This record gives sequence, C-alpha cells and structure tokens, in this order.
Amino acid sequence: MDFDIIIKNGTIIDGTGRDRFYSDLGINNGKIDVIANLNNNTSKTNIDATGLVVTPGFIDMHTHSDVSLLDNPEGESKIFQGITSEVIGNCSYSPFPVGKSGSFTYSPYVIGPPNTDDDSDQWNDLNGWASFHESRGIGMNLIPQVGQAALQYAVGAIEKRSVSKEEMKEMQTLLIEAIEQGAFSITTGLSLYPSGYMSTNEIITLCKVLNKYTNVFYATHAREINDNGIEEAIKIGLEAEIPVQYSHIALVDQNQHGKAAEILQIFEDATTKGLDITYDVYPYTAAQGGLNQSIPGWAQSGTLNDYMNRLGDTNIRKKIRKEVEDGILGTPSWKSWIIANTPHKNADKIIGKSVHEIAIDRGIDPAETILQLEEESYGTVSAVIHNRIEEDLQYFLAHPLGMYGSDGVAISPKGKYSSEKHHPRFYGTYPRILGHYVRGKSILTLEQAIHKMTGKPAKRLNLKNRGVIKKDAIADITIFNPETISDKATFEDPHLVSEGVTDVLVNGIPVITDGKHTKLLPGKILRRNSD
Ligand SMILES: [Zn+2]
Repeated sequence: MDFDIIIKNGTIIDGTGRDRFYSDLGINNGKIDVIANLNNNTSKTNIDATGLVVTPGFIDMHTHSDVSLLDNPEGESKIFQGITSEVIGNCSYSPFPVGKSGSFTYSPYVIGPPNTDDDSDQWNDLNGWASFHESRGIGMNLIPQVGQAALQYAVGAIEKRSVSKEEMKEMQTLLIEAIEQGAFSITTGLSLYPSGYMSTNEIITLCKVLNKYTNVFYATHAREINDNGIEEAIKIGLEAEIPVQYSHIALVDQNQHGKAAEILQIFEDATTKGLDITYDVYPYTAAQGGLNQSIPGWAQSGTLNDYMNRLGDTNIRKKIRKEVEDGILGTPSWKSWIIANTPHKNADKIIGKSVHEIAIDRGIDPAETILQLEEESYGTVSAVIHNRIEEDLQYFLAHPLGMYGSDGVAISPKGKYSSEKHHPRFYGTYPRILGHYVRGKSILTLEQAIHKMTGKPAKRLNLKNRGVIKKDAIADITIFNPETISDKATFEDPHLVSEGVTDVLVNGIPVITDGKHTKLLPGKILRRNSD
C-alpha cells in the first residue's frame, strides 16, 4: 500500500493518557490511515522517528493570537513548540463581532493588526474574520471563541453601569450569531474593563442563551484571582448551565501563596455538584498583563478618550493615583513589574525596566509613573509581573483537572514585535513543561503531560478527530526528542524559539521538517462540532 507520508519507528504517545507504544504511522489525504508496522510499504514522504516521540499536535487552550498571524502567518513562537491549534478570543477580547461602535482594538492583550494597520474593517463577524485569515494563509489552526468585551463594544455598553434590556438582547443576538457560525465558547476578563463592569447576574443572563447549544462552554479570566473569583465562575456555570474553563489559574496575592490544594478543592467540590469545570495554567511564576489592571475600573469607564480625559483632570487624577498607590490587586510591588511593550517613541528606554526604576529615572513616585506610562501609550502598555510561587505552580501543572494554555501570541522572532519584551511563555510554554517539569522534575509522566496538551483540551473543545492518534484522526502531529526538548526564551531574551521539536504536521501537511519551517501554510479556522 502507498501512503502520502509514513512516520517510521516512532514512540507513540497517543494523547489519551495511556502508555506509549512503538509503531509506524501511515498518513493519507491528511488523515491517519494505518497504525502498524509499515516496513513493506512505500510513501512519497518518509519521516524517520527513531528515538523520537510522536504525539497529536498540541492544542494551546489560551492564546491571544486573534490577529497576529496576519503579520506572522508561520507563528514561529508557537509552531516550534509543537502547537498546531491556538484557541483565540480569550479574556473577553475577540476580533468579532464588529458592531456600530466599531471593534475592540486597543487592548494591550491583543497585539498585531488591527492596532496599527486597521484591518478590522475587513470583517464584521466570525465568518468574515475567518475568511480574511484563510485567504492570507496561516501556518496553524485557530479555534475561535467570542469575547464578552467585543459584544459590549459592538452594542456600545462600555461604561461602568448596568446593561439596558435592549443592549442585553442585542448582545445575546450577536453571541448566538457567533456561536452559530462556529465559535466554541464565550469568554470574560472580569478584572479588565469593560468586561468587569457586568455583574454576575448580567453574565448569567447573557450566557443562558447558550445552554441549548451542544458543547459550548464559558471561559473566564476571573474578577478576583482568589476563591471569590472561582465561586463566581462556578455560580455562572451552574446557573447558566454551561461547562466552565477557568483561565490561567494562579495565586498572585502573597496571602494566598501555598494554598493551591485548598483552591483546587473548590473545583473538586463543584464537580461533585455536577459542574463540568476544568482550568488551564502556564508554567511560569510571572504573569504578563496591561498596566491598566492597576487602574481602578471607574477611571476606565467608557471610551479610551474618556479614560485619558480623566487622567488629564487634576482632581480626578489625584483620586486615581491614590487608588493605584494603595493597590488594586493587593499591595503592589513595583520592582517586580517589568515593562514589556509600549508604542511610546522612546520605547527602548522603557522596555525591560521596572516601574520602580522608571520612577527613579523620572524623579516621581511609582503610582504617578503608572499614570504617565498609561498616557504615553494611550492605555496599551503591558508589563511582566513576578508574583507567584513554584510550589503552587507545580500543583496546578500536575492536578488532573488542569490542562495548559500559554496566554501567549503566535509571533515571529523577526517580525514586527521582535523589539518588544514579551513574556517567554509566547515561545516556551510547552517545551518548558516537557523539559523542565516532566524530564527535569518528574512532576508528572510524559503520557500525563501529553494528554493535558492534546486529548484533554480536544475533549473540552469537542474536537472529535483531533487531539488523539487513532485511525481516521486528522493528522495534526508533533514529533520531538524527549531527551532534548526545552524552552530557550527567557525574560531577558524572550524571542528564542524552543528546541527539540523535529517535525510538525498540520492537517497532514509538513510544516516543520527536520527542525526547519517548510513555509507551507495549511492551517484552518476550526468550527465547533465540525472538526
Ligand atoms: Zn486573561
């Protein structure tokens, strides 16, 4: 029998969590056709996987690659980690729907066009965004979610106030439209604005329209990153009757450090009440987020101009500065907030420095520094924040309810973002788990870790033919050397691609061969219940 591709002599870890086995794989028409010894068969392409591990392509549950592949279609930061599918639209931000008030384009989380090129007028809805991406060509699959802030923008409900009946109806209509076009879920970012202006009950009302659709879930970046935020997520899941994906779990307040087991007990209790709840986590003790997270919500109400006008009003500015000084996310430790990116004209003098250092340079206090940086960047400056402990992180990485998500973006080391000092999670998340935590610290087995990167997220997303190696599965496949796979990106030097991934297939097409990108762009936009 002839095959398009034969992968020879590999150690197969199939994504279900079961033990590894040795086999060849025969691929035809983009699908896994035969799992057996294929010594007497021929193929157009042969991949020798002797000494290497063959797994399903990794699924990154939490990314902000909403538009970055328009600039960097190969997405080297991600594909060299072995990631073949990126879940986008997180933390309430999605590039659709675009309503009468325009789209949400200035978030420090969503990097890439439309911020600069204003490609956003190229689409209005999920279908438009999808065909714009597919017409340009993308090197990996994207899995769309619809963001609650995008809905708020689309209907013009971006102030700190209740949502009117008409606005709620309009948001529900746009949400249903996106879900019917194939979005997998709705996301919130409740410590961010405008997402955080909506009350628990309003979110429940919004999400209730989803429970008649199969396999839709609620993904949340919580309002408070502690037990209250988790209780709210559980309440929304139970009352709206939809499963919950808790995003980028972490304990960032010093008073919470060491309590990972207690926190996950709340998740376990919720599952005994019948809630289908899981979480994702990335393998670092630092976060990256907008500096606007340290600004009180009331100050950010309305448009970006409204926010900037408040900063420009002497009396209001004083009030804002006081609240920044006191700390929105617990007592701020400004030495550990390192500026990652800013469109400021002197960005090179700011990026890589702590808020504390910039304050000294400027001869002002840290709270005033935050306000100045926000003004200078028009609200789009982000920072890397060192705020967690290793013990909690390892607990979250290993617990059975967890899967992984980088919270990073598919970018290129040569691309337009290469001068920015983003979090190393953009380039290193998956190899760091496999190298540092599995090979180095043995906090879980390779089979368990691969399951959390493949079969487990595929189940959350209801991807029936991806995330596992089985007959007729779509051939998203990652091959790596288990002895050498490792992350290279650091906080100082964050644009170093990971090592150890030798071959990657996306939809049956080789995208990485012998460690080199083939420049092929076989990625697709996946739709709920159809892939
Ligand atoms: Zn988030």
